[in-house]
Amino acid sequence: MENKKQAEEARRARLLKMRAERLPDIKKQFEENQKRNFNANFAPGGKDEALVKKSSVKKATKATNSKAGATKSAKAAKTSKSGKAAKDTKASKNAKLTPAQARNVALGVSTRKGEMVHHQRMLSQDVNMQATQHIIGIPVNKSRYNGYKGQQVTMSQIRAARPDKDAVRIIPIGGLGEFGIGKNMTAFEYQGEIVLIDMGTLFADADYPGVNYMVPDCKWLDDNRDKVKAILFTHAHLDHIGACKHLLPYFGPMVPVYGTAFTIGMIKKQMSEVPDVPEMNYQVVEPLKHDIIKVSQHFSVEFVHMLHSIPGNTSIVLRTPNGAILVSGDWRFETHPMDTPADYDRLIEISEKEGFALMLNESTNIDVPGTHPHSEYDVGENLGRVMDHYANGRVIISCFSSQVKRIESVLREASERGRKVAFAGFSMINNVEVALRAKAIKVPKDTVMKMEDIIKLPDEKVTIVCTGSQGEMNAVLNRMVTGQHRFIKIKATDTIVFASNPIPGNEPKVTSTVGGLLREGAQVIQNGKTHLTNIGPLHLSGHAYYEDHVKFVSDLKPKNYMPYHGEFYMLEHNAEMAENVVGIPRDNIIVADDGDIVELMADKSIRKNGRIHVGNKLYDDADRQVNEAVVKDRIHISREGIFVVVLTVSKKTGRLVKTPDIVSRAFIYLDDSEELIGKIRHYLRTKAEHSKGTDADLKALKDEIKEDVTHILFDATGHTPIVIPVINRV
Ligand SMILES: [Zn+2]
Ligand SMILES: [Zn+2]
Repeated sequence: MENKKQAEEARRARLLKMRAERLPDIKKQFEENQKRNFNANFAPGGKDEALVKKSSVKKATKATNSKAGATKSAKAAKTSKSGKAAKDTKASKNAKLTPAQARNVALGVSTRKGEMVHHQRMLSQDVNMQATQHIIGIPVNKSRYNGYKGQQVTMSQIRAARPDKDAVRIIPIGGLGEFGIGKNMTAFEYQGEIVLIDMGTLFADADYPGVNYMVPDCKWLDDNRDKVKAILFTHAHLDHIGACKHLLPYFGPMVPVYGTAFTIGMIKKQMSEVPDVPEMNYQVVEPLKHDIIKVSQHFSVEFVHMLHSIPGNTSIVLRTPNGAILVSGDWRFETHPMDTPADYDRLIEISEKEGFALMLNESTNIDVPGTHPHSEYDVGENLGRVMDHYANGRVIISCFSSQVKRIESVLREASERGRKVAFAGFSMINNVEVALRAKAIKVPKDTVMKMEDIIKLPDEKVTIVCTGSQGEMNAVLNRMVTGQHRFIKIKATDTIVFASNPIPGNEPKVTSTVGGLLREGAQVIQNGKTHLTNIGPLHLSGHAYYEDHVKFVSDLKPKNYMPYHGEFYMLEHNAEMAENVVGIPRDNIIVADDGDIVELMADKSIRKNGRIHVGNKLYDDADRQVNEAVVKDRIHISREGIFVVVLTVSKKTGRLVKTPDIVSRAFIYLDDSEELIGKIRHYLRTKAEHSKGTDADLKALKDEIKEDVTHILFDATGHTPIVIPVINRV
């Protein structure tokens, strides 16, 4: 004890001595730093320059006027830097200067170049952030279910990952932890055999100007294409099949494509839009037969009928050497369904007989408490009530085109009331056609009419089912509002039903469509606003609620659990539900991102082990690919605009042969900006003069003009449009 105290005292004494010895040095260092900082702050380009400038601005303006005599604006007070530039130009005859220095021209700006550069840097950060919200590189994932005990995975961990040859590898290629739900696609690999489930698209929002949707981009899959033994589809929503026309043609007729009749019908319809429709090996499955299909040496698959908001919906049981994996697909519970009841017993049977080594469960509505309070029948009945209440006018019902059972309800309710029904909208007509062929819809006799015929009937006979429930600008409903629709213009006696909920993010568009309809004097009935009309509900979500998930997972007792089909918070909440309510041990739950490799081991344990690179391909509404650089340019232009200056100079003399042309788009209106344009013309003339005779590199000259003009524009407007200098030599 005594020894310890002495030792501590000795240590302190040593430290104090050391400090005393070093103190002068430290002090000196501190003082020097301070001096430097002070100087730097008040120097040109320094932090406090503005303070200095304020007091000297009058003087500077005077100096400018006397020297250049051209700039009238007080804003054009010269900084000492541009002052120096002017001096340099003057001294250019001294021949000691480099050609670039010789070409320097006074800009007459009061903002520092540093400010402009800062603005540009912040802008480019914003643009990058907006244009690359999808997963690229290694996403941050410190969830306690991340497979690394809550630690962020490192590059070296990923590099060191070696696949276990006896593991089944589950690789989500899309659909996990991104903004929005979509792009669903998962690969299952075992010893060189791959099975793919779903190929979906993700709809891009307004953050991606000119981009309609995205599809998964996966080099790993390109490299391993030959190993793919089967491609399976859970159901025909676009977030599960939308990417078919881009991805399926790579596989050709050797790889079987499995799905129910409606799903395959929808895929074929989509593939028929591809030029030179590729021949594919489509295999229609009938889930209620409980067929177990052996798709490769190690994998066999079974489709299980489940309920959702589209016909032909399934879960998929994938039998692997390391146990059965249940891929839930999209699902909801219904006690009183319009469709064939879900084959829940079959899932229970497999769970009891074989057990599920792993369950991938969708996460869409995990944040919605409770369970569905009503059924699709209620929705149908309420649509009938609308027809009763508004019996004298046209009833226009807008819903998702894949809601085939809802469309069936409309047909039934209309037919019972002697109304006729016409369909409007490309996808609506498409889906009804496919449903008819797949026998997924019952159509009462003499009820369906063509649009051009139904408009000849009295209003009380007219029912129209159309797209546009999400407020899409170019969809039928909006065109009816604006009068652009060929057959229908909304009138005050119309009743419009939104048998849908806006998808998160679409609310403003829906609001604007509703506003447009109300302005025309029409009656609007929206789901979720029952208090206004006493009619509702008019929609039933296709996805299970929280309590449904608790029951589903508790009943099926999977050993391991992996939330999928959801944004990151949904996956996390789904995992919490599995641990806290169902009681699955934390180590058996994995929250993965697109690209993560999850391994189901021979001993049925689960782990995360490395990553593959995944990305996105962006497509416009003409199905043409859009480069990310183009999207970034569009965002930049939408914020700052574009500015083109054209110099026409004589090849012989180097002199300007005409006044520089200036084009401004999405930036400033030229007629309102004479002074600024005059300033830029003056700069360009001076610049051309200074470049005269020198054998200046054209590119260097362009770069200088680009930078200088950007600076002048930034000085005047606070914005940095994309500046494009063009030099014509004639
Ligand atoms: Zn779905
Ligand atoms: Zn889905």
